[in-house]
Amino acid sequence: MSSLYHECIELLKNRNVSLYDIAECVLLLQKPYYDDLTIEQCEEAVESTIRKREVQHAIITGINIDMACEEKKFYSKSIEEKILEDYSLYGVDEVLAYGICNLYGSIALTNFGYIDKTKPGIIGELNNDKKQCNTFLDDIVGAIAAAAASRLAHRK
Ligand code: MG
Repeated sequence: MSSLYHECIELLKNRNVSLYDIAECVLLLQKPYYDDLTIEQCEEAVESTIRKREVQHAIITGINIDMACEEKKFYSKSIEEKILEDYSLYGVDEVLAYGICNLYGSIALTNFGYIDKTKPGIIGELNNDKKQCNTFLDDIVGAIAAAAASRLAHRK
């Protein structure tokens, strides 16, 4: 497995997100459609999603932006401020997440919209967490869950 994959898992872990947390989101999304779906299958789908190179690039880039802002190391202070306050009209965090969804087609985009609205499980936790900057992370985690859910949907 690529070292970028491990870098992603480590980064997510350092930001308090486990594959299991994301899998729980996937289960919540897909459970209404198949009642025999297990958390293990969801975890597998999450893993496969994170094995894609483009997804790895989005995860690492997004988390690095969050961390740089948190440490006040972002070059543009006006943008740093917007990211730190999770300014709703900033929008680049969502655009990066769409990049992940676009790899999986329109079901992923629909799922992402739903997750963004309902903020299930780990997404809600990240949203309410005031100890670190999760402006990019919450959208990235939502997009991974949405992509993994559509992966399962396409395979049924
Ligand atoms: Mg965000």
